Amino acid sequence: MARSIFIFNTHDLPHRAGEMREYQLDLKITEPVGVDLLAVKPGEVIEVDLRVQSVDEGVLATARVMATATGECTRCLKPISWPIDENFTELYYYEISTNKSANKRGSKSSKADDIDLEEDDLSFMVGDEIDLEPAIRDAVILNLAVNPLCTEDCPGLEEKQGENWSYLPEVESETPADQRWAALKDFPLKN
Ligand SMILES: [Zn+2]
Repeated sequence: MARSIFIFNTHDLPHRAGEMREYQLDLKITEPVGVDLLAVKPGEVIEVDLRVQSVDEGVLATARVMATATGECTRCLKPISWPIDENFTELYYYEISTNKSANKRGSKSSKADDIDLEEDDLSFMVGDEIDLEPAIRDAVILNLAVNPLCTEDCPGLEEKQGENWSYLPEVESETPADQRWAALKDFPLKN
């Protein structure tokens, strides 16, 4: 499997608290980042101004995420583009080495116990690598509208005399049922 473009190797950053490096990344994405209606599409670039900083617990990443999402107006289906500009800060903990051989229930180190409650929310390094994907996805989604509109007062389809209805798929209600599905009619469906 291809290596994720969101994995960033911090090997240039000395693991000594206070050390800091800055990078400008152009991530050409291969899968949509966003939501169904509005997303940065594959082939587009997400720009990330990244600063990584060594701290006692691991590596602190501070980033500015810039991109353009595209999608459709939820009222009139007109194509829209949506600028994204968002910051995030994420702490990537050094791996807890005692955890590697421990079984998941019993024998975690006391350090792991301390952070157990939030463990699902924590990000860990893998070797020198940090995975920026969850933080970047969150940053993008945070910037998106749930119901994107081309303009705030978009009149929608109705008032445009159906001009845009051609975007909608044709209704095929008169199509006779496919023979292959006919047998399913008698199939007892459980509620
Ligand atoms: Zn619209």
